[in-house]
Formats: sequence, structure tokens, C-alpha cells
Amino acid sequence: MTLQSKMTVLVINDEPDALDLMTFILSRAGYNVLTAHNGNTGLEIAKHVTPELIISDVMMPNINGIELCRLLRADIALKTTPIILVSAVHKDSETVIEGLEAGADDYIEVPYESERLVAKVARLLERKMSEQLLRESREEVTNILESITDAFYALDTDWNFTYVNQAAEHLLNRSQKELLGRNVWNEYPAAVNATFYLMYHQAMNEKVAVEFIESYPAPLNKWYEFRVYPAKNGISVYFRDVTQRVQTEKQLQYDAFHDALTGLANRAFFNEYLQKTIERTKRNGSDLFAVLFLDFDRFKLINDSLGHAEGDNLLKQIARRLESTLRSGDLFARLGGDEFTILVNNLRDPSVVSLIADHIQTRLEIPFEISGNKIFISASIGIALSTTNYEIAEDMLRDADIAMYQAKAKGKAQYQVFDQTMREQALTQMRIETEIRDAVEREEFLVYYQPIMNLETDSLIGFEALVRWKHKTHGILLPFQFIGAAEDSGLILPLGKWVLHESCQQMQDWQKRNPTASNLSVSVNLSSKQFLQSDLAEQISEILKETGLNPHCLKLEITESHIMENIVMTTQTITKLRALGIELSIDDFGTGYSSLSYLHSLPVSYLKIDRSFITRMIDGEGKSEIVHTIIKLAQNLKMKVIAEGIETSEQLIKLKMLNCEYGQGYIFAKPMEAKAAETFIAKSLESSTYCATE
Ligand code: C2E
Ligand code: MG
Ligand code: MG
Repeated sequence: MTLQSKMTVLVINDEPDALDLMTFILSRAGYNVLTAHNGNTGLEIAKHVTPELIISDVMMPNINGIELCRLLRADIALKTTPIILVSAVHKDSETVIEGLEAGADDYIEVPYESERLVAKVARLLERKMSEQLLRESREEVTNILESITDAFYALDTDWNFTYVNQAAEHLLNRSQKELLGRNVWNEYPAAVNATFYLMYHQAMNEKVAVEFIESYPAPLNKWYEFRVYPAKNGISVYFRDVTQRVQTEKQLQYDAFHDALTGLANRAFFNEYLQKTIERTKRNGSDLFAVLFLDFDRFKLINDSLGHAEGDNLLKQIARRLESTLRSGDLFARLGGDEFTILVNNLRDPSVVSLIADHIQTRLEIPFEISGNKIFISASIGIALSTTNYEIAEDMLRDADIAMYQAKAKGKAQYQVFDQTMREQALTQMRIETEIRDAVEREEFLVYYQPIMNLETDSLIGFEALVRWKHKTHGILLPFQFIGAAEDSGLILPLGKWVLHESCQQMQDWQKRNPTASNLSVSVNLSSKQFLQSDLAEQISEILKETGLNPHCLKLEITESHIMENIVMTTQTITKLRALGIELSIDDFGTGYSSLSYLHSLPVSYLKIDRSFITRMIDGEGKSEIVHTIIKLAQNLKMKVIAEGIETSEQLIKLKMLNCEYGQGYIFAKPMEAKAAETFIAKSLESSTYCATE
């Protein structure tokens, strides 16, 4: 009763009794009833009040019911207001038809039952309301469809457009007028028809909603997202331009799997692809494939000397050159730094992989050009073959890496195919590294000292500090058993620093306890890794401060080959150390390939002739010539010479004859613990001459 109670019904009738009766019935039914006694008044009231429904008698003076219908309908506000005509039974049947034509919605004959009247009124009002709702909601939907940025169109079962919104007009580049009634398949470029056809048919025939993203080829080059819904008589399609989103996604996906510098695949991509290859081969049988692991020899030198930008430039050139040597099925990736990998598929037999490695090496022999410089570069290549039956990509990559290290150890431009023993070696190496790490923490290292003598006066001038590892199970280990691993793992840095500190502390202690020892010096060996630290001079200066040792009492030894590895940086560091008052020696001289011009410019005080020359000095004619030449060279360069590894008096006599100033070797003493060295100092300082003991 809620809605009806608010509704206004206008009743027009010239017969007062009839008017009263109807008013009574309708009021009781809950309507608000207005009355008029003739057509004119009725029209007036209707225009002012706009009632929800009008009931008019047909037969009235002046304006009859039919005329009134026409006049009411002429008013825009009353165009849809339901009108019921009241007529006498059978009498006015023609008039009734005329009335319906003039705009009346229904009629009721007198006499009528009150329920019939109320039911008729209620039905008409309901219809009017639902028509209005429908009209409103249709308007609303259209408004929504026109205002949304998504494009929308509806198709009938013959694939013709029945509705197209503005956004769709825009994206399809055609007006609504052109599109309506047109077949949708005329609108899609042939290249993409297939997808649309499939998806639209699915929505139409199977009555399911489908979603898909499809590209429009050039010249549009756009991506659209489509949502297709089945409708009562056809389908409705929403679509929008998602080009930007798709492109961003594609870029992100690309970035995640590609190396930014070279554009090659990256580690993630390589691993994933390798894993797939392993799995596919497992399923399909015996396809032979291999992983080649490339690491460029001395690449660091290029970065250090030409700068990182040129280093990057070279990496790009390498990528392009090697790329052109590969077959289309092979995957080439850069893992990072100067490490590259290649997955070679479909090998006829394992020997082919050697040919590929050779081919790569040959291609690399042609120099690269970096800002006008010709650069020669070679790669060490490790190879892992699928015959090992790998399950996991990382394992195969690791083995190729191990093989690469073996290749590197053999020298430049080598390749090695992985075998099981390599893994064992690598494991041992890893174990040693872990042990060294623990040993550094537990301070299981100690320093032995070997006297260095003045050969002219037979007096002690100092000691060389030589590290030892007091291993809990293997006893005292010599440097060759662990220095390599310490260098590879970087542990040489903390270890080397410890040796420096310990040796300086020890020498300072001796000097404190025995003032005559104040001229003695300690020589400490440095690895190239230590030497390449830019703050080495600061570190050493700190150690000297902490221990209180006079800088003149510390000497540093660096091997010839290490100096040549990075001549620019080494020279800078040596100059800084010299400024602190520390002298330097070139160790193992004669075993490397020093360029004499560099040697001349290096601020180095001592040359230590390698033991191998001293050992060979005596055997046969002319063998001492090399030693003689080195001594003369040193004298010309204003350097002092120390002969290493003097074992026999014959060697000692010869060296003295050649005016070699200093010497070191078992003939004087083997390297010894600090306590023994202290006794050695006491003895040698109290007797100025010292007799050889062994
Ligand atoms: P090096 O600096 O050339 O040291 C001389 C090596 O020759 C020492 O071996 C020494 O024991 C040995 N030697 C001395 N006189 C004789 C002799 O008359 N006959 C024979 N056969 N050998 C003699 P060691 O102590 O095994 O050290 C080997 C190498 O390990 C050293 O060669 C040095 O390059 C390196 N090293 C030793 N301690 C350290 C250290 O603390 N740091 C670094 N980075 N390297 C070290
Ligand atoms: Mg040395
Ligand atoms: Mg040496």
C-alpha cells in the first residue's frame, strides 16, 4: 500500500453520483483522488497536478472523453499518463475504439464492480512504472556504455553490430552509423582473424565468457585486451588498449632474462633453458649436448688499464663476434663479468665439442679494436658433456666451471673437458679453503724465520719471514700446500696481514730485548692480491705504528711475475711504500719475464736471484754466467743482490767471487721458529764471523 497511497488519480465525470461513487472506491483503495465535473476543469487540473492516472467519462458536454484524450496527449507531461475511459455497456463500443485510438489505455463499462476498477487502475499504474523503470535503466546503461573508456559493442547471432559505444567507434576508427548492421569480420585484419574467430565462436556457441589479449599488427602495432560475454541474442564485447601494459610486461620479462650490456641471455635464462634441455633429453632419449664455460684470460688487466667503459665495450664486441660463430639452436649467455656460457645442442659425437672450442679460440685470435688500440684476448674454456647424465642445470654449469679453472691453470687459450677427477680436486680445494678460513680464525699459522747474510762480512743482516701452517692433523704445512688456495679464495688478505703484523711484532720484540739487533730487518713476502689493494700502504703504516717497528727494518718481497701483471698499479704502490721508508725486493728473479725498461724505472732496492740459478751454477761450464749477468745488471741498476737457496760451500765461494753481496740458504740456516731465530741472533751478533752450519 505504500506506493499506491501516494498516487494521485484524477476522475472526470459530469454525473455527480457516478463521480462520488468512483471517488469513494478509489479513496478506499488508498489513492489520492482529485475530481472534475467537466472536461475543461479536468484538463486544467491535469496540467497543474500531473496525476499518475486519469479516469474520464466518455459522454460529457463540451469536451467529451475522446476529445479530452487528444488534448491530454498533446501535453508533453501527460504523454504517458494512463487514461481509462468510462462508458455504458455496448452503447459506446465505437466511441471506445475511437477513444483508444485517441490515446486512452483502457476502458471500463458501467456498471462495474469496484474490485474490477481497482484492479484495472493498479495494473495500469504498475505497467506505467515498469515502463518508466525500463526506460530509465536503458538510458542509464547507455550513459554508462558511452562514458566508459573501455570500448564496447554488441553483435547479433549473424555477427552484425547492434550496438557500438563511442570508445569502440574510436578504436575501430569508424562511426556508429557505419558500423551498425555491418558484419564484424569485415573489421578485423586478416592476420588476427583466426584468434577472434575462435574466441567469438566459443562465446557465442558454448555460451561462455572468454578473455584474451591480441595484437593488431603494423601499422597499428597495438595490443588489446578482449572480454567477450554471451548475451541473449549474440555476444557483447569489451576491449581496451593495453599496449603500454603489455610492452612494460614484455620489457620486464626481457630484462629478467637478458644481460643488459650484451643483450645475450643471462644466468637465469641459461639455467632455465639448460634445465629444460636436460629434462627433454631425459624423455626423448640420447641427444648429446654440451655446456662451454668461457672466461677471458687476464680480463682484469684490460679493465685496469683501459677503464671499465672500454672493458664493457670489449665484452660487447666479444659477444657479437662469438654470436656469429654459433648455430641458431645454440644458446649463448653472459653470466656476469667476463664469464660467458654456450649451450651447444645436437652434437654428433663428443669430439665435435673440441672442434667448436678450437673454432672459438681461432675466432678470438683476430685482435679487437678498442678506441684505436688493438687488443688481443684469449679465453679459457671448460666443457661439460651431457654424457655425465646430469639432473640439474647448476651441476652441469658447475662442472663446466671446474673444467674452465683447470684450463686456466694450464695457461692461456686452453680448453678442458670435465672429468670426475676434476670434481674431486675441486672438492679438495674447497675443503682446504674452508680449513684455511677456520685456521685463520683459530690462528693456527706461525712464522718461521730464515737468516739473510752479508756475504762479504759473513754477518747477519736480517730474516725472511716464511709462513707455516700448524695443521691439527697434518702437522707443519709448507706454503706451497696452502698459499695457492688462500690466494684463490681471497683468504690471503687476512692471512698476509697477519704474517705482516706477526713479523713486525717479532722483530720489534727482538730489537727491544737486544739493542744490537736494531739494524736487523725482516723481509715479508706479499702476494699479488695483497699488492693490488689500493690501501696497502695505509695498512702497513698502521701495522708499523701498532708494533712500533722502524720502517727501515721492514722489507717487502714481491715476485717478478706479479709485478709484471699490473705494472701501473704496482709502481704506484711501491712509490707509496718507499715514501714510508720501506724497501722492496723482487723475489724469484729470473723466473719471470721482466722487461728491462720497467725494471729500470721501478723503485726497488733488491733483486733476489732465484734458487734454480744458484743450484745450476756449479754444474758444468758457463752455468754461472747467468748469475754473473744478473749481478752486473743489478749493479748497473743500483740494486743490491741476494742469492737464494745457497746450499753448498762451492756455491757460496762462487757467489763471493762474483761479488754477490747477500745470500740466504740452508748453508747458513733453514727457516726456524722465532725462539731458535732469537738464539741465532744472539750468537751471530756476539761473534762477528759466523761459521756455516747445516
Ligand atoms: P720464497 O719467498 O722464494 O722463499 C724462499 C723459499 O726457499 C722458502 O720456501 C725457503 O724455505 C726456501 N729455501 C731457502 N733456502 C733454501 C735452500 O738452501 N734450499 C732449498 N731447497 N730451499 C731453500 P718456503 O718457506 O717453502 O716458501 C716458499 C714460498 O712460499 C716462498 O718463496 C714465498 O714465495 C711463499 N711464501 C712464504 N711465506 C709467505 C707469506 O707469508 N706470504 C706469501 N704471500 N707468500 C709466502
Ligand atoms: Mg721470498
Ligand atoms: Mg724466492
